[in-house]
Order: sequence, then C-alpha cells, then structure tokens
Amino acid sequence: MKAIRVYAPEDMRVIDIEKPRIDEEKNVLIKMKAAGICGSDRGILHGTNAAATYPRIIGHEIVGVVEEIGEGVTRVKPGDRVIIDQVTSCGHCYACRKGRPNVCVNLKVKGVHIDGGYRQWVTCNEKDCYLLPDFLEDKDCVMIEPTTIAVQACSRAQLEEIDDLLIIGAGALGTSLIKIAKLYKPHRLIVSDIDNAKLQTSLELGATDVINSRETDLESAVKELTGGYGSTVTVDAACVKGSLLSALKVTGPAGRVITMGFSVSPEEVNNYLITSKELDVRGSRLQNRKFQEVIDMVKDGRIDLRGSVSHTFPLTEAKEAFRFADSGDPSIKKIALMID
Ligand SMILES: [Zn+2]
Ligand SMILES: [Zn+2]
Repeated sequence: MKAIRVYAPEDMRVIDIEKPRIDEEKNVLIKMKAAGICGSDRGILHGTNAAATYPRIIGHEIVGVVEEIGEGVTRVKPGDRVIIDQVTSCGHCYACRKGRPNVCVNLKVKGVHIDGGYRQWVTCNEKDCYLLPDFLEDKDCVMIEPTTIAVQACSRAQLEEIDDLLIIGAGALGTSLIKIAKLYKPHRLIVSDIDNAKLQTSLELGATDVINSRETDLESAVKELTGGYGSTVTVDAACVKGSLLSALKVTGPAGRVITMGFSVSPEEVNNYLITSKELDVRGSRLQNRKFQEVIDMVKDGRIDLRGSVSHTFPLTEAKEAFRFADSGDPSIKKIALMID
C-alpha cells in the first residue's frame, strides 16, 4: 500500500509498504478516505515540532471506512465510516486514572509519536473509532478533529454565559475557537489580533468586539469593554512572545487563562499577577474524548463543517499539497489529502 513517510526534516517520501493486518481482537482495519493537513504536520515536515520522532508516517486528522473487524469488536462493523481519535494512552498513570488520557505520561499521538493516517489502510482499537454522519463529505469530516481542540479549550476554561471571553489570536486556531465559544453564549466574545482582515472575519463569525493590538493597548481596550474588570476567561491562541504576560495582565480576578502553545522561549511573568487575582492558569492540549461531542454538534446543526475544506490533493501528491500549504495562498482554508 501507499504511505507518506517523513524520514527527517524536509525529507518526505511516497513509499510502498505492507498493508497492516488485524493483530488484536479489539482492533479494526480501516480503509482510509481523507486526512487533513494541520500546522503540526507541517511542523514535523519542517523540523519545528519538538514532540515528533522520525521516521514517521504523519497524519492525525483521519477519516476512513471500516473494512474488517477483530473477533472482540462490538462498536463498529464493516462499512461504517469513522474518524479516528489520535490519542493513545497507557491507562494506568496518574493522568489516565484522573480521566485525562490526553496528557498521559506515556502519551503516544498517532502521526507524531507513532505512525498516523497518511496511508491507504490503518489498524486501531475500536474504542478510537467514532461514527460519522452521512451528510458530511469525507473531506469535511477531517475538520472534526481541529474542532475537538477548540471544544477542549472551552471545557478547560469552564466557559459560561457570565464570562467575558478574550481570544488572543485570530488564526486557524482562534477562528475555530470563536465558532465553538459562541455556542456557550459568553457575555462578551472579544478577539484580538494584529491583522484587520482577520478581525473582520472574527466579527462575521460571531465576535462581539475586536481589538487590533498593534494599534491599541490590549489591556486598556479590554478593561474598557468589561467595565474595568478585565476578561474572565482569556485563551492564548497566538502563543507569541509576550502573549502569556498579556493574558495574565488582562484577565480579571477569579479568571482563567488558557495556554495552547508549545513555545519554549522564556516569558517574563510574576507571582503578583496570578496570586493577587487568584487566576487559574491552565494548559489545553489535544482533546480529551471530545469526538462524540463534536459529532453530536454537527448532527444537530450547532456547527456546520460543510465546505470548510478549500483544497484537496491525492495522497500521492502530498509533497505538492504541503508546498501549496506553505505558500500561504489566501484562498486556503483547509487542505485535505484524498486517499483511495
Ligand atoms: Zn491537527
Ligand atoms: Zn497514562
């Protein structure tokens, strides 16, 4: 079968490998149909994803059809179309016992630490498979995974109607956060960025207020919008130098600050900012069993993922697809690889 393997940074190849077989009774064999290209996949290709190990078959936004099932499988049957959860956990460490396998100390993410879905067939445990609604095309189904990331952040933030939410950064992550966060009906949904076009899009998606943080002082602008209190939930979806400090400054007493980045460059923060307001500073990583929640949102129309993929390429043209993704062409919303 055909697969896409990154051997080392900047060395991605189309290869021929053996088709996998079901080797455990709870495993299923899946014929892959579509896989999204995510910023973190590009990071693995370009050597900027610190978590990745090489060589690696990448791809973690992965959709396919069940072809064969192991003897012990009861959740799915051949012909079912599914999306695969990328999180693989040990089940016995502290995080796992606390019901948080997405930060398992032995965490293995498909397409990052173990082989992922840029290939014609994969096998995985039945518990990682989630049934997809028929009306959503294969390519658009890949968007369910990035949506789970936004649901996870809102869940970590314990977002409620009384919150004044600030999202720092209106890129791909910030945009998907706006779409999900508005379902929680926060009192205000404020978005900051340095790009006016992105801020305009944020307003169209449901932001109540936008702030260009290059033109205006973020802290005073947020205070003004919130009657002097500050935001009560701040999500740092920019993860640039200084954004964590801004988030701590701009968040009011008893608020939550959610970090989503993986930057290792030092940030100057201080005790006072956190202690004086009893801020909760929480990371949000991947997602914790949020697939069914997002699929239910798609089914009952709370979110519409139709048409969210702007470009598709056949699996074997992955190199061209990644080159196009790197071009930053303004028509790109999401790129998916189609697999047959
Ligand atoms: Zn992703
Ligand atoms: Zn664990």
